[in-house]
Amino acid sequence: MSRAKILIIYTGGTIGMITDPSSAVLKPFDFNQITQEIPELKKIKCSLDAVSFKTPIDSSNMNFSSWKRIGDFIWKNYDNYDGFVVLHGSDTMAYSASALSFMFRNLSKPIIFTGSQLPIGTIRTDGKENLITAIEIASSSKNNNPIVSEVAIYFEYQLYRANRTTKVSSEDFEAFKSFNYPTLAEAGINIKYNYSALLSSESNVQYFSNFDNSIGVIYLYPGMDFNMFEKQLNLEKQRAVVLLTFGSGNAPTDRKFLKIIENNISKGKFIVNITQCNAGSVQLGKYETSAKLKELGVVGAKDMTIEAVLTKLMLLLAENKTIKELKKSFQENISGEI
Ligand code: ASP
Repeated sequence: MSRAKILIIYTGGTIGMITDPSSAVLKPFDFNQITQEIPELKKIKCSLDAVSFKTPIDSSNMNFSSWKRIGDFIWKNYDNYDGFVVLHGSDTMAYSASALSFMFRNLSKPIIFTGSQLPIGTIRTDGKENLITAIEIASSSKNNNPIVSEVAIYFEYQLYRANRTTKVSSEDFEAFKSFNYPTLAEAGINIKYNYSALLSSESNVQYFSNFDNSIGVIYLYPGMDFNMFEKQLNLEKQRAVVLLTFGSGNAPTDRKFLKIIENNISKGKFIVNITQCNAGSVQLGKYETSAKLKELGVVGAKDMTIEAVLTKLMLLLAENKTIKELKKSFQENISGEI
């Protein structure tokens, strides 16, 4: 049997750091020497290549140019490898991984994001296990087909669908959670795949890499000043606004608040309603406090994560659709995010 070929893409973050013996400072290590740092990798039955961002970055500095850089690495090498592992800081991993899940539609190979809370060079690191298992998942196949053919995040023994995942802890090894979708696999003595939860591709892979970030995000809170709210919406370049609402998509029924929304929708702005709750779904019209929003043309984000909503919108806005088309595409399931 031929060995799976895996491309590792190192973007930065804690995982790729080792302590420089001369200065005791944490610095990124050269990923082409990855098997020297982690000799265990030699035991995995796959061949590994690695590419790295010229300057590895903390994931707080990720933006859509970085997502395009990751996407381009994969797209250019798509036919040459069986799977891809992206090493990324955990802070914004859920955004980047969600973005990639919408950039690559109908994926037929795994793109597994991973990182760690402690650098690979430290004694209690979670980085080694995360990296080794992410590579193992990326190289796993059944009947000559990859088991995973979607963008996923592997962290602390769990594999999650990328666009369902949110970072929930800045200190626990278990840093991620998928509130509205089951985990795709669990790593114990064996890796147990949740086959019925995995995506399968039916047509050829397509790659999209244009983004438009003219999006406003507004977090509603009881007692908010509606004059300030109006100003937050009154920005020239803004094409879409994501409102973070209460419970199942509820918001104040104050006439001034609703009038501001009505005016903006009539000016052609696309307004999305997503709940502040981590788990559950927006159900516009369930309560009186969301019925009017629905009537005005606000679009519910259903059970999507905020990371999925923002990255999906950035890609859809760049496709220059009419509001009607945008509304339709936004509510359609692209990569298992709904
Ligand atoms: N601040 C780091 C980053 O997101 C934390 C990590 O790597 O987990 O890049």
